[in-house]
Amino acid sequence: MRTTYFADVILPLALPKTYTYRVPQELANEVATGKRVLVSFGGSKMYAAIVAAVHTQAPQYYQAKYLDAVLDEAPIVTARQLAFWQWLASYYLCGLGEVMLAAMPASLRLASETQVLPIELDQEDQQHLTDEEARVYDALWIQQKMSVSEIAELLDKKTVTPVVKSMLEKGAVALEEEVHERYKPLLKTFVRLSPQLKGDARLNDALNTLNKAPKQQDCLMVLLQQRNPYAWITKQQLTKKHSLSASALNGLEKRGFIQVQKQAVDRIVATAASKKQVVLSESQQTAADQIQQGFSQNKVALLHGVTGSGKTEIYIQLIEYYLQQQKQVLYLVPEIALTSQLTGRLEAYFGKHLRVYHSRFTNNERAEVWYKILENEEVKIVVGARSAALLPFHDLGLIIVDEEHDPSYKQQHPAPRYQARDAAIKLGQLHQANILLGSATPSMESFYNAQNGKYHYVSLTERYGDAVLPEILVADMRIAKRDKNIRAELSGFLFQEMEATLARGEQVILFQNRRGYAPRWLCNTCGWVPECKNCDISLTYHKYRHQLTCHYCGYKMPPPRTCMACGSTDITMVGFGTEKIEDELVLLLPGVTIGRMDYDTTRGKQSYQKIIHDFQDEEIQVLVGTQMVTKGLDFGNVGLVGVLSADQILSFPDFRAAERGFQLMTQVSGRAGRRKSRGKVIIQAFNPEHAVIQNVVQGDIKSVYRNEWRERQSFVYPPFCRLVGLTFKHRDANVVSDASVHIVQQLKTKLGSRVLGPEAPAIARIKNQYIMEALIKLDAKIDLERAKLFIQETVAALKQHKSFKSVRVIIDVDPY
Ligand code: ADP
Ligand code: ZN
Ligand code: ZN
Repeated sequence: MRTTYFADVILPLALPKTYTYRVPQELANEVATGKRVLVSFGGSKMYAAIVAAVHTQAPQYYQAKYLDAVLDEAPIVTARQLAFWQWLASYYLCGLGEVMLAAMPASLRLASETQVLPIELDQEDQQHLTDEEARVYDALWIQQKMSVSEIAELLDKKTVTPVVKSMLEKGAVALEEEVHERYKPLLKTFVRLSPQLKGDARLNDALNTLNKAPKQQDCLMVLLQQRNPYAWITKQQLTKKHSLSASALNGLEKRGFIQVQKQAVDRIVATAASKKQVVLSESQQTAADQIQQGFSQNKVALLHGVTGSGKTEIYIQLIEYYLQQQKQVLYLVPEIALTSQLTGRLEAYFGKHLRVYHSRFTNNERAEVWYKILENEEVKIVVGARSAALLPFHDLGLIIVDEEHDPSYKQQHPAPRYQARDAAIKLGQLHQANILLGSATPSMESFYNAQNGKYHYVSLTERYGDAVLPEILVADMRIAKRDKNIRAELSGFLFQEMEATLARGEQVILFQNRRGYAPRWLCNTCGWVPECKNCDISLTYHKYRHQLTCHYCGYKMPPPRTCMACGSTDITMVGFGTEKIEDELVLLLPGVTIGRMDYDTTRGKQSYQKIIHDFQDEEIQVLVGTQMVTKGLDFGNVGLVGVLSADQILSFPDFRAAERGFQLMTQVSGRAGRRKSRGKVIIQAFNPEHAVIQNVVQGDIKSVYRNEWRERQSFVYPPFCRLVGLTFKHRDANVVSDASVHIVQQLKTKLGSRVLGPEAPAIARIKNQYIMEALIKLDAKIDLERAKLFIQETVAALKQHKSFKSVRVIIDVDPY
């Protein structure tokens, strides 16, 4: 008797579970975990799904359909990768399909497109077609078949479903689902001298026979001039320097003198390694050795190295070690766009062994990296932002999480809402790989894991070379305001220091955590503030476009000349953003070039790099920016850093505000004085006595975290509990409110007072969706897995409620 096999597959859809298909006998030998199979799901739609398991158990509640085809010769998802995906789905309470969607480049995901085929009708039946249908019918006979979108193009219509449907009913067409492989390797034409011509005599013979074909003779001569004419060279390279006619090449091929062949080439051409071995300083070497010591005890290592201590060099040496062991290495960074300096340095060291994985790459480029990692031959190291952790690694030896404190490691939207640093630790365990977290300002969790011995703590307290940490001073804005000593939002103190720094030929960075010109307009007569019509938030003024803009939905309106409530003309702007500072500095510092780096100036593909380059080349002398300027930049000539409104940074209504504020201010300070002369940092604050500001000045991370630890313990916040956030959204304020109350009541039956809310957030409406939030604090006394499942089930059950069906509920495990 033959065994019947079944395959559990992951569909690229937001489904809660895998789906089971029956394997046709003739495919039984081909089906395997990690391969893509073609299946139909929900009607006639076809998908490429990933096989998660093969077994002999028929599904209990439905008749399994046959799967249609096996698409891969070898698995394209590795076993460890699948295990990791499964962990992500269960930990972050989302579907495996959602993880697959986040992980796989679109060109590997394939879904079918409906094709329309003509059916022969007799003359009389053809009469029943409308003019439009007749046009489609004729076109179909010419083209054999057309996709729905091609028909839409033909008729110049947005939707053609009614046309196709009517033709189906009249028996004029049939439908077929078709799947196309979208990933195509990049092919190039290669040329070489035929090996049969080896030997002088044969070569001369060949050249002589070409006496009457001078163009072909020239062409052969050009090939002969190559360093090795018998090695493949691209036609493109050959024709770049010499004008060779295609017909001459053809002629030579016909005579058998040359060989021509298409070969797959890399889309992303690796830079050749150019740098020599790193030589670590004594303290760097000690740190590197300590890290290895930690690894030998199977511990996660935390490298706490002050800004400019040369953490990257230590990483490079470690990576080298794992490369020699033939192991794979994953190097995570918070935001790849901000790390062009870093990736450039790494590429220079590792050349072809390293690939950058970039969300701005095309789908085919990303698919290429996918296959390179899967092959596990030449490419061993991947540098990338969080989604790089989802690539098909076979055998990781080392995972580095650089700037491990950075909030961008958390994916906010869509699911999986994972924290890539935390997930990387799990990934490392699955591979039995070593894990290194690095930061000048470790997250509180990591810092305490290190303090209590769970992580292996390694510290570097001095900068590399002759550089020293900058001097940090505070400007008291109360005094500056009293003395009317503020220009362009800068205290007289900061302004003087700026002038002095520029006079020395050094550069300045100014950090203001708000973009745009002015965050609010205000009627001084009645207090009216222009707000977004779709969101409950005031509009930000952008002078460059002379528009008020909503930062949440993009809604724009021209600034009003008079108050839209009372008609008064007494309207003023309140607060300031990066654009305003840039604008005013241009006037105050004539002849000085001012640059700006924020969301508005960095939308173009290359615009980050351009600003970074211009600053590096000192084309820009003063750089004004949002938190983008705080991250990892390494410039040699920055003499002064100004933090413009420290109070604002510290006043966020978030339990992490102190931690974040400390990290932000310390990181941006770290951009100053990274080479020879000592840099200066000036922090402007209306409340200079604030403990966190004082801690930044003293570089005292221990005190910040000691205070935080106490606070979080008494108010029960992470790491003293796990948080699960719930967000409810709906167009109707009452519906969303009732739904959230209903869910919270359900949750309280088992979780009691651990459930907080529901409450409307500070911005209670975004894009016309009303929002309610609830927060669940899961303490150590509780079975975490069971509690999370209960939350998931309770939320899922809302769909069965007629009136709440259309409420969207987002579950966020470990929200940030
Ligand atoms: P961090 O990431 O710790 O802030 P970086 O790795 O950017 O510091 O190093 C700061 C600067 O010092 C960089 O310009 C780097 O090239 C240089 N540097 C650090 N260590 C070395 C070394 N061992 N040899 C040469 N240059 C080094
Ligand atoms: Zn008014
Ligand atoms: Zn809006």
